[in-house]
Amino acid sequence: EVRVRFAPSPTGHLHIGGARSALFNYLLAKRTGGTFILRIEDTDQARNIDAATEKLMESLRWLGLDWDEGPDKDGGYGPYRSMARLDTYKKHIDILLAENKAYYCYMTEEELEAEREAQKARGEMPKYSGRDRDLTADERAVYEAKGLKPVVRFRVPAGQTITFTDSVRGEVSFETDGIGDFVIARRDGVPMYNFAVVVDDYLMKISHVIRGEEHLSNTPRQILLYEAFGWDVPTFAHASLILNADRQKMSKRDESLMQFVEQYQSQGYMPEALVNFLALLGWSPVGEEEIFSLASLGEQFSFDRVSKAPAVFDTDKLAWMNNQYMKAADLDTVVDLALPHLVKSRRINRDGNDAQLAWVRRLIGLYQEQMQYGAEIVDLTTIFFQTEITYDEEARTVLAEEQVSEVLKGFAAALQEVESFTAPEIKKAIKATQKATGQKGKKLFMPIRVAVSGVTHGPELGDTIELLGKETVLTRLHIASE
Ligand code: GLU
Repeated sequence: EVRVRFAPSPTGHLHIGGARSALFNYLLAKRTGGTFILRIEDTDQARNIDAATEKLMESLRWLGLDWDEGPDKDGGYGPYRSMARLDTYKKHIDILLAENKAYYCYMTEEELEAEREAQKARGEMPKYSGRDRDLTADERAVYEAKGLKPVVRFRVPAGQTITFTDSVRGEVSFETDGIGDFVIARRDGVPMYNFAVVVDDYLMKISHVIRGEEHLSNTPRQILLYEAFGWDVPTFAHASLILNADRQKMSKRDESLMQFVEQYQSQGYMPEALVNFLALLGWSPVGEEEIFSLASLGEQFSFDRVSKAPAVFDTDKLAWMNNQYMKAADLDTVVDLALPHLVKSRRINRDGNDAQLAWVRRLIGLYQEQMQYGAEIVDLTTIFFQTEITYDEEARTVLAEEQVSEVLKGFAAALQEVESFTAPEIKKAIKATQKATGQKGKKLFMPIRVAVSGVTHGPELGDTIELLGKETVLTRLHIASE
């Protein structure tokens, strides 16, 4: 039976890399009819952030990655939060201590630091020296009498090669000689990640551990712990690194790149698009098709098609993909994504009346084809909220043509005649202008478009003019025809 887990530490928002790990776990569970578990790994208390768990859960839910078991959903393997499992860890630490597979180490932080510095000075890789590996009861008593609090270290066997088959990377080996006796419990008794994760994965009957490549070097330590307990090792799958457009490892500190799910949510991206995009960060489908729903991904996903080469996080591709989803969405969805940004930028009033709301819905609809994400509506619709527009260079070239003044004046006159200021009537007025001036095609449409919008391209002209409103349009025609 497949049981997989996403095990974030509550240290901040849901990162793109974490979201991809969560997705791959979720997809394997879906494809196999398995169970997807959310577990919060909060033993590194110094790094925990208040409310991070709630935020992580919110982002996962927004993406549609619902878990079958988790802190809020008991499945009989809880608790699903490490700090609520301290008794369980203590019991297992005691087993290793009793079997002499782990031991107390009394070295102080200063002593450890001095040891590492000396090793570095000799050109060696820093590694715990093993000073307290074989303390006698008397030696321990001396340290205890001094009031020193020990950590618990795992006794790493010398001279072994740890080999495992990773579902993404194939066979991977590590030499135990490169691994010092590592700490499994801190001085206050709280276990370290490498220990807690093994106990939890074992007790929660996790069959596949799917996570990012940054955890690959933890895996031999974890395997040593499974072996020490005599437990079967789960299947490991380490998804490749995610690089930024410069092919550098993404840094959480890099502010120029949006790296958190919540940021995409607040910029008006669609969760379906982000999920689709995340799936393609490492996984590749069989055919040419690139658009996949969560459900269809759940039918197709497998590790044979997950690449071990680093994936590049291409924000243009994400924007393209989001546009695909926005084009296909219904207007209500697009309005929900875009409208808050018009409100936030004070373009429109939060509590506008029905007529204003109807107008803004049409405005958003006008840009639905073009919009890459909701927040983009603000820049796209600038001309609807300015009193004076500026002409870009192409626009100025158009306005310099000789027929322009006649076309604009003719169109202004024709607009005075229309019964109602609606797109169909406006189109009739354009036709009438064609008759009156003898101009047609680009020579007719371009000057009008440029005069009302300042640019040479944009959505449907009749609708644009209707939504700009008669007064604004007549003013702009007048200014441009001078
Ligand atoms: N808590 C770890 C992290 O957030 C989980 C690693 C794992 O999946 O084992 O990176």
